[in-house]
Amino acid sequence: MPLRAKVATSVSRTAAALSRAAGRGDGSVIGGWIGLKIDPDLLKNLAAGRAIALVSGTNGKTTTTRFTAAALGVLGPVATNSFGANMPTGHTSALAKAGATPFAVLEVDEHYLARVIDETTPRVVALLNLSRDQLDRAKEVAMMAQMWRTALAAHPDVHVVANADDPMVVWAAVNTAHVVWFSAGQRWHDDSFVCPECGSPIERADGDWRCTGCPLRRPQAQWTVEDDGVIDPRGDWHLVKLQLPGHVNLGNAATALAVAAEFGVRPIEAVPRLAGVASVAGRYAQVERDGRNIRLLLAKNPASWLEAFDMAEVAPTLLSINARDPDGFDTSWLYDVDFSPLRGRQVLITGDRAYDLAVRLEVNDVAFRHVHTFDEAVRASPPGRLEVIANYTAFQDIRAELDRVN
Ligand SMILES: [Zn+2]
Repeated sequence: MPLRAKVATSVSRTAAALSRAAGRGDGSVIGGWIGLKIDPDLLKNLAAGRAIALVSGTNGKTTTTRFTAAALGVLGPVATNSFGANMPTGHTSALAKAGATPFAVLEVDEHYLARVIDETTPRVVALLNLSRDQLDRAKEVAMMAQMWRTALAAHPDVHVVANADDPMVVWAAVNTAHVVWFSAGQRWHDDSFVCPECGSPIERADGDWRCTGCPLRRPQAQWTVEDDGVIDPRGDWHLVKLQLPGHVNLGNAATALAVAAEFGVRPIEAVPRLAGVASVAGRYAQVERDGRNIRLLLAKNPASWLEAFDMAEVAPTLLSINARDPDGFDTSWLYDVDFSPLRGRQVLITGDRAYDLAVRLEVNDVAFRHVHTFDEAVRASPPGRLEVIANYTAFQDIRAELDRVN
């Protein structure tokens, strides 16, 4: 590396360590920020010589990144931004901290994908899904798909691993030279009702979809989920036992296996490593308190709330909603979520915007009780499982109550 990059790396690491020591999070944002101030090409310099996979999409990227890093671990040390700092500052910091690893798996915020592809020259880019998120600031979904499509067109050598079930993702990736399709399902259809190519309605049946006005249609997937396993491109079925719940995580596992295969890792080697992932930065973590088994589920936009309802057991459920900066200030997305699956369960609500949630639940005819603190929620629920579904900062608040469980 150039001398300037070496100095920047060292300063970046020190700043991150000082920030951690001061109890200000994991320090990856500040560390990366300082490093990039000293050497604006630092990310490019740190990426050079590594085989890199990028993982992007609206939902599931932190978990899929964790799975992919675990799978690539078969080959050797892997650098990764495991704390979800998914912008270039976080990537810079993760690579600086890891030292010289042959591999890196980086979770990338959808908006930054083009820039991070430019700077890291990845071998593989995984595209998970696109749906509405943070209404007050995120790009409209079709616009994001266009940004991805343009970014991939500028890098024809990149191998793309993409979700065949999401028309927006397919449209973004369909013209790339090297693409492998996986099928991870798509529960949320409201952001891909019309074709991004021609604007005609998209027709869906039995997991298949096609545009009614142009040739865009679901490509044949080489990696698919079947029962509790994954079928690889040769047609072999692999049992995938995970600690993480839900069909959505089986899809994330299939994606990780597909990405790892692009690096030469066989599913038979990778699958046992996926089972080792018990929680991801507190998500899916289970904590025992006062006879309650509390499980934490993060849900931050309509598509991920649908997935959370699918994952949650029929048990007392605490919902918490905030609308602080990282959450987005606009909570009107609550009206995009169908809360009726919660009918008949004991529902507790809390968070800064509990009243927004209360109105929404009333409209959906779901009975609930408002609690002011997490402790009150625990006391109000009977012994046994308590499911907690919370959006971003609400989740972090509850995680803090549980001693920052990982
Ligand atoms: Zn069309």
